[in-house]
Amino acid sequence: MKEQEYFNVADIFGENVFNDSVMRERLPKKTYQKMKEVISQGRELDPETADVVAHEMKEWAIEKGATHYTHWFQPLTGVTAEKHDSFITAPMSNGKVLMSFSGKELIKGEPDASSFPSGGLRATFEARGYTAWDCTSPAFVRQDAAGATLCIPTAFCSYTGEALDQKTPLLRSMEAVSKQSVRLLRLFGNTTSQRVMPSVGAEQEYFIVDRAKYLQRKDLVYTGRTLFGAMPPKGQEMDDHYFGAIRERIAAYMRDVNIELWKLGVSSKTQHNEVAPAQHELAPIYAEANVAVDHNQLIMETLKKVAGRNGLQCLLHEKPFAGVNGSGKHNNWSLVTDDGINLLEPGKTPHDNIQFLLVLACILRAVDEHADLLRESAADVGNDHRLGANEAPPAIISVYLGEQLQDVLTQLIDTGAATHSISGVKLETGVKTLPDFMKDATDRNRTSPFAFTGNKFEFRMVGSQDSVGEPNIVLNTIVAEAFADVCDILEKAEDFDLAVHDLIKQLVTDHQRIVFNGNGYSDAWVEEAERRGLPNIKSMVEAIPALTTDKSIALFERFGVFTKAELESRAEVEYELYAKEINIEAKTMIDIAGKQIIPAVIKYATELGTSINTIKAACDADVSVQTELLVEVSDLLADTKVALAKLQEVVAEGLTMEENESRAKFYHDEVFKAMEELRAPVDTLEMLVDKEAWPMPSYGDLIFEV
Ligand code: ADP
Ligand code: MG
Repeated sequence: MKEQEYFNVADIFGENVFNDSVMRERLPKKTYQKMKEVISQGRELDPETADVVAHEMKEWAIEKGATHYTHWFQPLTGVTAEKHDSFITAPMSNGKVLMSFSGKELIKGEPDASSFPSGGLRATFEARGYTAWDCTSPAFVRQDAAGATLCIPTAFCSYTGEALDQKTPLLRSMEAVSKQSVRLLRLFGNTTSQRVMPSVGAEQEYFIVDRAKYLQRKDLVYTGRTLFGAMPPKGQEMDDHYFGAIRERIAAYMRDVNIELWKLGVSSKTQHNEVAPAQHELAPIYAEANVAVDHNQLIMETLKKVAGRNGLQCLLHEKPFAGVNGSGKHNNWSLVTDDGINLLEPGKTPHDNIQFLLVLACILRAVDEHADLLRESAADVGNDHRLGANEAPPAIISVYLGEQLQDVLTQLIDTGAATHSISGVKLETGVKTLPDFMKDATDRNRTSPFAFTGNKFEFRMVGSQDSVGEPNIVLNTIVAEAFADVCDILEKAEDFDLAVHDLIKQLVTDHQRIVFNGNGYSDAWVEEAERRGLPNIKSMVEAIPALTTDKSIALFERFGVFTKAELESRAEVEYELYAKEINIEAKTMIDIAGKQIIPAVIKYATELGTSINTIKAACDADVSVQTELLVEVSDLLADTKVALAKLQEVVAEGLTMEENESRAKFYHDEVFKAMEELRAPVDTLEMLVDKEAWPMPSYGDLIFEV
């Protein structure tokens, strides 16, 4: 093991980022001022400024060892994409090359867009796509085995300007919610705030397994999750992993991850073991939504890359192992003004914080009216295992407010006015040497998909490998709509105080059904939610239609976030993705069952048979155990073969289907079911067959021996 090096985080933090302090230091004063304006006021960058910035950015990157630059973007594949260009120019007459990078190259790229999902927005012959620099998210130099590369965060759109990525609509939604929030603030006499930015902190869960063992599992390699596997004698029932001491090998890995992230200016803050064995979490400090979305992509990339270097494999899939918890991404969201006011801060006495109550009422309305869209924003193929499935909590959207706010709400609904707030009380520990502290007025609730946690909402449905782009696009836009509608009313009101009180009361009364403070994982809640008329959308395929309802199109077009065509294309992309992913899983199962499991079981059964014959020939001993086992194994082997044939049949049928939506439905209803039917006998066989004979590492090997 290499000698431990100690370092000061402050020295390395952001060292590979072309951030404000680098710009201030390196750019001519005038150019720096221009850049600041462009960034803070969302202005367009003029060509001269771009040239100067590009030149300095290149010089800086070359000092860090960069040979290439790339427009780094987020197409609808869920991961990031990049194409590398080196800085070199054509050789001069003396045979040497210059390193160059122009403003044009910084601002605009033109990758061939035809191989990225577009959901029919663009025919293959219309391949042009553009990437455009999002200068509100700083450029950075990434150093890895490929050398050092200058990465420029960009938005990606088609020749005709339609968004082909997560970033473009995210930026549009941020503008929308900022504009409407400022309107709302003005009503309350705020004249100083110019912009309101959604702040996002995304907590990332992941699994770590040994890379050598991972490579022996084709299912993990091809699909990111285990498609077969019986539970070991021990799972997560002892709760001994959550917050448990971090093992040396993992600790060394986390340290490497942190160093990489800090250099990239990602403020990795919290790390701990999660509930399932081999499961962990990393949370950065929150940032403006678009930066947070970029940073979350960097976190996922870094987790994977650094794992490889440490002989480990990072699994970002939402459900790598059946029987233990899956992984998610908690999206913490709030609205903060450019001068630092958090619109979701209730203060000590929320009942008399009218602005906060109005904001809260608007959010309740937004979530209630667009629960289907929020649910959809968290849908991805892997997340189907976490939302509304067998081992998963229900996929019903509800809001947790906690005791204090619930009490204020009840007062408002019952009497039309809230006159007091429950406050925190002193918590006495009963130990003299421990300080007494003030208990929060509100406890935490871990089962709510959308929970108020002090001064932010935490949306917990997002999948661990999904981009947090979509959930934030939806959140920003639905809240912008609620704000816009109340502003329309209040700006015209003769008596503002009276009008705002009436409006708050009306909103919380109309939308109180979305509030639920109890156990969101219970069956009773499923029934109660149904009585309240709340949607319970159990799968991705059932969630996708929410994108293209009239309600959704009206919402997104009103705020210029998506056009109808863009929404329709996104729905197409998702249907297509669903069928493709399940198809890969099914084919992987077919491969493993046919080439690894069935041959191994035949071999084992043959050994049993030979042993029975040998013993019988030698003496008169009792061979009933072996015989019983042989019968059992042979029966299960036959079941496996039948289930395998069935899966092959439905996959073949699925491949003939052309239309995206019906194919996705078929993969959900038929193929997925056939996969589960193949898994069942195989998992039972794994418990019977000699461990030495089983062709791949078991769950126990994978999650308890990292
Ligand atoms: P827990 O696991 O207890 O929910 P963590 O500390 O793991 O909490 O994560 C909380 C996340 O919420 C962090 O990323 C944190 O920076 C972020 N956060 C805190 N305040 C805000 C806020 N006002 N807006 C958005 N995110 C926030
Ligand atoms: Mg956490």
